[in-house]
Amino acid sequence: MASPTAWRCGVCGYIHRGDEPPEWCPVCGAYRDDFELYEEPAPAPASVPTAWRCLNCGHVHGGGEPPEVCPVCAAGRDRFDAQSAPGAAADRASDLGRAIVVGGGIAGLSAAEAIRAAAPEAEVLLVCREPGLPYYRLNLTRYLAGEVPAEALPIHPGAWYETQAIDLVAGAEAAEIDPGTHSVRLSDGTWEAYDRLVITAGAHPFVPPIPGSRREGVTALRTIQDADRILGAVGDGVRCVCLGGGILGLETAGALARRGAQVTILEGYAWLLARQLCEGAGRLLARLVGALGIDVRLGVRVQEILGDERVRSVLLEGGDEVRADLVVITTGVRPNSHLARSAGLGVNQGIIVDDHMKTSAPDILAAGDVAEHRGTVYGLWAPAQFQGSIAGMNAAGLSVEFGGIPRSNTLKVLGIDLFSVGLVEPQDASFRVVHHASESTYFQFLFRDAHLVGAILLGDTSFAAQAKRAVEERTDWSAVLRTRPSAQQVLEHLAVQGRG
Ligand SMILES: Cc1cc2nc3c(=O)[nH]c(=O)nc-3n(C[C@H](O)[C@H](O)[C@H](O)COP(=O)(O)OP(=O)(O)OC[C@H]3O[C@@H](n4cnc5c(N)ncnc54)[C@H](O)[C@@H]3O)c2cc1C
Repeated sequence: MASPTAWRCGVCGYIHRGDEPPEWCPVCGAYRDDFELYEEPAPAPASVPTAWRCLNCGHVHGGGEPPEVCPVCAAGRDRFDAQSAPGAAADRASDLGRAIVVGGGIAGLSAAEAIRAAAPEAEVLLVCREPGLPYYRLNLTRYLAGEVPAEALPIHPGAWYETQAIDLVAGAEAAEIDPGTHSVRLSDGTWEAYDRLVITAGAHPFVPPIPGSRREGVTALRTIQDADRILGAVGDGVRCVCLGGGILGLETAGALARRGAQVTILEGYAWLLARQLCEGAGRLLARLVGALGIDVRLGVRVQEILGDERVRSVLLEGGDEVRADLVVITTGVRPNSHLARSAGLGVNQGIIVDDHMKTSAPDILAAGDVAEHRGTVYGLWAPAQFQGSIAGMNAAGLSVEFGGIPRSNTLKVLGIDLFSVGLVEPQDASFRVVHHASESTYFQFLFRDAHLVGAILLGDTSFAAQAKRAVEERTDWSAVLRTRPSAQQVLEHLAVQGRG
């Protein structure tokens, strides 16, 4: 087994690199105990298989040996199948001359790291539009709330890039890609040649076409600069409106409330987190958020953002006006795919990639929020990190596949325990739903055939890691399901699995 240099959060899949697991997960807030040893995919010698596919969940592990346990679904070593892997892969890895990674988010950083590990001699250029060091973007709401100081945002210190021989070019933008000549034009006009290019340009906030959305005091939250702008405007009694009751909107609302603001959330759906929660859980969540002093308005439509130069209020369809000194638009994101589109790459919602994270153009790969894999643009941290590593390994000449992973979500900042994974609603009569609701908790388990395919835990997330594993692992629940179990019995069964 590999030396313990990486740890995987059992709740959200976040991978922490270091000799010890962290005190808490920066992605979902899970405790140190929830971390398990993670064997990093490693480049393989030329004479043995270079990849192993998990028969349970489809995860592909790069390396000469299968892992002891699948890092995605915890299946044992014997559940891995050797992938036909040409011995040339490792040779190609050492052949890689120069790789360019466009975008210094978690996908780009993971790609650069993986290239460095698999091709020690290669030149690696990491081009980042944002100034400064790559950082934990997902912790910006914690930063807004005052939970995380600015110094804790960078993922690695500057010296790390030097020791890794990763040439970090911060504050530079890739303006054009020429797949024909294998080169990228940077915003200062210089052309940089590549042997392999990995596009990890991420996503930008989607701002719906609402009249008045360009008024002063209206902003989105994606970067440190956005967060600092919001921090400059918020304070005791400042009236803030968050447009959108998704995870980002809720966390932002919680952070602003912690800064003393009077906060209103405006959501078009009839319940919160409509993509992650069923109606019962989404409505209970709205009550729990309301109990924190945040005004939650469901089923409302914004007509216009009113004011002069500055925002004054938000006008709702039907005529209601919500007073606002600050409006934060949290209505989703869109992939930064224009660069790829203008270069002629296949783009749908995101840049279309195959299981190797390869795009339609030779020697160009993509990963993270900018990429669309089997029709899915994840928009989540853990898949971006995962895809980035796989794209990096493949850019270096290995042959590693991404088989897709069930989406899972947690809620930070508000102090409300919430976890959801997999499917939310039954898609037809063959699904079985087991649920339980109380004043402060809501549990839903969605089964199809003998498998758990979705879970919602609100108010008590003690068994989140087990539920996630059960969904990813596709364990057999037929014996339990024969007894027509209650939600309590499903939880008890998960607890037993956790002990096992
Ligand atoms: C406030 C906030 C909280 C979040 N919380 C969570 C959470 O709790 N859990 C979760 O799973 N996800 C969360 N997310 C989403 C998560 O952060 C993203 O899914 C993840 O950051 C995607 O990583 P990425 O590397 O693909 O893209 P990004 O993080 O968007 O990074 C892309 C980088 O590329 C740069 N770039 C773009 N175009 C170019 C170009 N032409 N040249 C050079 N550079 C370029 C961008 O400036 C950016 O720095 C959150 C997001 C935000 C904003």
